[in-house]
Amino acid sequence: MCGIVAYTGNKPASPILLDGLRGLEYRGYDSVGMYISGYGAFRTVGTVQNLADSLPSSLFGTTGIAHTRWATHGPPAHKNTHPHTDPTKKIWLVHNGMIENYQELRDLLEKKGNVFTSDTDSEVLAHLIAKEYEVEKKLSDAVSSALTQVRGSYGIAVIATDDPETVVLASLGSPMAIGVKDGEYLMASDITPMRRHTSNVVYLKDGEYAVVNKAGYSIYSTDHRKMTRKPKLLQKELEEFQTTPSHSHSMIKEILEIPSALENAARGRIVLNEGNTKLKGLEDYTPELRNIDHIVIVGCGSSYYAGLIGKLLIEDYAGIRADVAYGSEFCNRPILNAPSKTAFLAISQSGETADIITALKQAKRVGMLTIGIVNVVGSTIAKEIDTGVFNHAGPEIGITSTKAFVSQLEILTLIALFLGRLRGISQARGAELVMEVQRLPDKARSILAKRDKIKELAEKYLGYDDFLFMGREYNIATAYEGALKLKKVSYVHAEGFPGGEIKHGPIAMINEIFPTIAIMPSDSTYSAMYKDVEELKKLHGGILAIATEGNLDVRVLADDVFYIPDTKHCLTPILANIPLQLFAYYTGILRGFNEEKVRDTVKIFATSS
Ligand code: GLU
Repeated sequence: MCGIVAYTGNKPASPILLDGLRGLEYRGYDSVGMYISGYGAFRTVGTVQNLADSLPSSLFGTTGIAHTRWATHGPPAHKNTHPHTDPTKKIWLVHNGMIENYQELRDLLEKKGNVFTSDTDSEVLAHLIAKEYEVEKKLSDAVSSALTQVRGSYGIAVIATDDPETVVLASLGSPMAIGVKDGEYLMASDITPMRRHTSNVVYLKDGEYAVVNKAGYSIYSTDHRKMTRKPKLLQKELEEFQTTPSHSHSMIKEILEIPSALENAARGRIVLNEGNTKLKGLEDYTPELRNIDHIVIVGCGSSYYAGLIGKLLIEDYAGIRADVAYGSEFCNRPILNAPSKTAFLAISQSGETADIITALKQAKRVGMLTIGIVNVVGSTIAKEIDTGVFNHAGPEIGITSTKAFVSQLEILTLIALFLGRLRGISQARGAELVMEVQRLPDKARSILAKRDKIKELAEKYLGYDDFLFMGREYNIATAYEGALKLKKVSYVHAEGFPGGEIKHGPIAMINEIFPTIAIMPSDSTYSAMYKDVEELKKLHGGILAIATEGNLDVRVLADDVFYIPDTKHCLTPILANIPLQLFAYYTGILRGFNEEKVRDTVKIFATSS
């Protein structure tokens, strides 16, 4: 999620916080705000510079908290921008992450008379802490007992107005660290803002909370034991603390964020004992979703390919006929099924894809139920659709979709299961699927840990100007997407084809200077893929296989093999796409593209830290 920076010391806090916020900008954000003890809160739905311009000149408070927000609950708006407070304005809080049970907590608090002023999950935390503070009288105790009621992920920094020079921090699934410098403390969710301030850092572990004031810092475990933890040198901490180490390009940063994007896509959405998914937006439309017998999935570029995989998932798990259309083509074709029985499912990372917006308008005009898979809360598509599911993948700045693409695949899996359970697929089948979905982040981590191997392969295959990508069934779209990525990032010619189709044409192109990347996991497509690859071998085409760990047999055939962990057949694209994204990235880098030279792909190669 997004960024937190906090300060307490003997200098005015606001310039230090602004500097820290600038250090967080590379992560992307939609709004920004700060609270300075004794002076109040300042917010803007704009840039850090906009916030800086709007601050009063006489802002001398020496303790404060600040935040760059990437909306997950409620659109980017002034009222939703952090810091948040409680009705008595005693507690001020900034929060990174998502509170899964925020609705239940909010309902409970509303029953007690609390009035909320934002749509966020974060405001619930401020109210909850304030309620506990009335009883506990000590902010750290209030924070810790409030957090026992919360499910989800959080990094928080909190100030109480009656103890204005103390900041309480807490962290669970969202990092938080304290930078230490002679009576001054700069706290942040990311190492980057600390670099200019200090080289001594101590970080919180999952579940811990900390009290920081001019006298020092104390860290406590969930069961209130005081931990002794000395600061370490920043450099040493970098690898340990940062979820993604600093990177020169947004693309690699975002590929490395895939495990957390997968975690966030599933967070609070899996009900294991029911073998089902909890998708609030879709639950509200249960009667309409029971009524449909056709889904048209609409995407552009990578999201179109995600749609091709989504079609198979929906047909396999829900037994509903699904078609996939390009955003740019949807309006050119007649709608053959009854619109009232057809759902329109838009997939867009940004929620602003123009062709999809046009298609969505048409779908609404004819009366289809419109559903979206969107990463940007508050975007046009998110606002226009009847209902949908947010990715919660965090900002995607790189011009080519990486973490958002795999997150789309995961959300499509959850939607397919939701629809399948409405149509009577068994609890056991559902449970088997969601159990494997929960294993995906670790499996993705294990692939990313081997990224040097992909770098070596990119070096080995650097001399080739043409590539064929090939897969069957669920991985036909992986082949299309792998080829698209390579073209877009490295300007190398690449084509994606279904394994069974190569004999109808593409094989004529294959020779020793036209290698193939074959996506061939050990599933029902494997033996057919093996035969396809054998045909290419006869023509002396090089073969780089993406295969399942433990498959030694493939080595006889392929020149090189990159292994991915075993998973369910329908989930293989989620894992197989990761090495292909890395391959495209490293090939692009090795070919020496940079932002000056490649105008259209500036964002991919933009220096991000
Ligand atoms: N869930 C919170 C919100 O929507 C925090 C988002 C973030 O991590 O920036 O405001």
